[in-house]
Amino acid sequence: PVVVLRLGHRPGRDERMTTHVGLTARALGADRLVLEAAASGRKETVTDITDRFGGPFEVEVTDQPLGRVRSWDGAIAHLTMYGQPVQDVEDEIRSVHREEPLLVVVGAEKVPFEVYERADFNVGVTNQPHSEIAALAVFLDRLFEGRELEREWRDAEKRVVPQAAGKRVIDADEE
Ligand code: SAM
Repeated sequence: PVVVLRLGHRPGRDERMTTHVGLTARALGADRLVLEAAASGRKETVTDITDRFGGPFEVEVTDQPLGRVRSWDGAIAHLTMYGQPVQDVEDEIRSVHREEPLLVVVGAEKVPFEVYERADFNVGVTNQPHSEIAALAVFLDRLFEGRELEREWRDAEKRVVPQAAGKRVIDADEE
């Protein structure tokens, strides 16, 4: 599995960012989101979307986010503008991930140096400063080589029927 850990969350300021980290993780093929306690209010928003549009996708809250990094039994990819270019390390990450679970760490503010040290891969999506949401999206798409775009959703209430123009949403059990 691929688990996304959102490290850091500034109440007030980061609410939408953290929600979007979760929605992006879900939409682009991760299995689970781990939030820290300060972000626990975001859990329901992401869970609501999963209830409506399908899963499987889990959201979990921890009061020991760094503990998760320390005790993770698998590989760790930490997304950071200071890391190795994603295009240079994606093959190796994919092959490691075939053997073991992958924890993908994205920050909010400054990420403790311990994470850089513990990570098996510090990965830059460009070495330019931008957004954890954008970095996560590109990383997951590279990891899954685009296959996540074809994913089927289970236990959905609603399904979007793609339209060239306009909006169409049907009950998932309708044909
Ligand atoms: N300046 C902060 C630092 O020193 O770590 C980073 C703040 S940035 C707004 C928040 C998060 O976005 C980072 O922790 C990282 O996960 C992600 N991020 C930003 N730019 C990135 C890039 N070019 N590649 C990968 N991740 C990036």
